[in-house]
Amino acid sequence: MTSNIREMSLVKSLKDIDVEGKRVLIRVDFNVPIDSHNNISDDRRIKAALPTINYCIDHNACSITLVSHLGRPKGVYDERYSLVHIKKRLERLLDKKVEFVEDFEKSKDEIATCSLERVFLLENIRFYEGEKKNDKELSKKLASICDVYVNDAFGTSHREHASTYGITEFVDTKVAGFLMMKEIEAFSKALEKPVRPIALVVGGAKISTKITLLESVLPKIDKLIIGGAMSNTFLKALGYDMKKSLYEEEYLQTASQVLDEAKVNGVNVYLPVDVVVTDSVEHPVDVRVVPSQDVLDGFMAVDIGPATAKLFSEAVELSNTIIWNGPMGIYENAKFSKGTFKLASAIGDCYAYTIVGGGDTADAVEKCGEASNFSFISTGGGASLELLEGKILPGFKNLDKKEAI
Ligand code: ADP
Ligand code: MG
Repeated sequence: MTSNIREMSLVKSLKDIDVEGKRVLIRVDFNVPIDSHNNISDDRRIKAALPTINYCIDHNACSITLVSHLGRPKGVYDERYSLVHIKKRLERLLDKKVEFVEDFEKSKDEIATCSLERVFLLENIRFYEGEKKNDKELSKKLASICDVYVNDAFGTSHREHASTYGITEFVDTKVAGFLMMKEIEAFSKALEKPVRPIALVVGGAKISTKITLLESVLPKIDKLIIGGAMSNTFLKALGYDMKKSLYEEEYLQTASQVLDEAKVNGVNVYLPVDVVVTDSVEHPVDVRVVPSQDVLDGFMAVDIGPATAKLFSEAVELSNTIIWNGPMGIYENAKFSKGTFKLASAIGDCYAYTIVGGGDTADAVEKCGEASNFSFISTGGGASLELLEGKILPGFKNLDKKEAI
């Protein structure tokens, strides 16, 4: 059976085509956080798109049009989400003039004409109602301003939108950019040709959002390490009284099944032996560490405890490939971030191949300063989750394929 990852890695990349003299449209992911003063607080996603843009410039594409979304506008213009806020940073990073296009339909002729070495940045594509509806007309209009379509927006590649999916129907040459290829290669290394033993570390808020991932990855791994609110559901399924902790009553059966399946597959499962509990998440007055089976009345488990952090750290240390999706606690609050940060540091210290998929996990790893110690941190939260679930991401689906070897 061909895996989704193998199938996606068969798409052609920019390297497989000639862009000289071509009008190239690149779907990038410039969906960066912007504060109330219009400052870009984290420009990693812009930087991640530079290799693809620079390659097109260096290989004499006659014009480059960049298309992205930003934030969640409601299909109409909203100043807060204008990509004009990105223009200056992009110019600085590219060291090149970028022309901002407010309304690409009005400027269509200018963009569509071969204009040597020009870089256009279109206004937020989600200001067009048709984008999220994968509207044919919008897809056609975007296709009409280019000869080559490059998808490099990994963070949006799990969406079937006009600029990520629909456009491929109307362009003859469509390939993946370098970021897309890098993401696929990284996950392929972790799941297709891994050095064993492989540990999957899962956490986060809910088992319901991660169950497909667990089912799909379980047969491939050696160790399953579970923390976060997700472990509350597992502990509850084992008969522990989790009191006010966040867990999913309707997934207790599923949790038991996962544990059974792990046994059948010879996967060692690690669950918290102690937890950090609090009387309140918003206004914690009483915060304590207790054994997992002794959560106090009126308290909730919000982080793994120190003994668990040690146990999990030792379990990952003996692994050669580590995939991490989901924080160990409510890491957004400094009081409940220790478990996640300790584990980030332990994984960062490993000699293993270490990969992070999941938006909050990536954010946590970045926040505690461990990012550079990881082998790869995915730029796509939802996309990496769907990839781990075994899906073929729509952003890859209709791109040109390499000849099968
Ligand atoms: P990712 O984005 O990495 O896939 P998720 O979105 O699944 O991760 O989960 C992250 C969220 O889970 C965080 O907002 C975090 O506060 C929450 N979380 C983790 N542990 C707990 C817990 N014990 N109780 C409540 N929320 C938790
Ligand atoms: Mg999340």
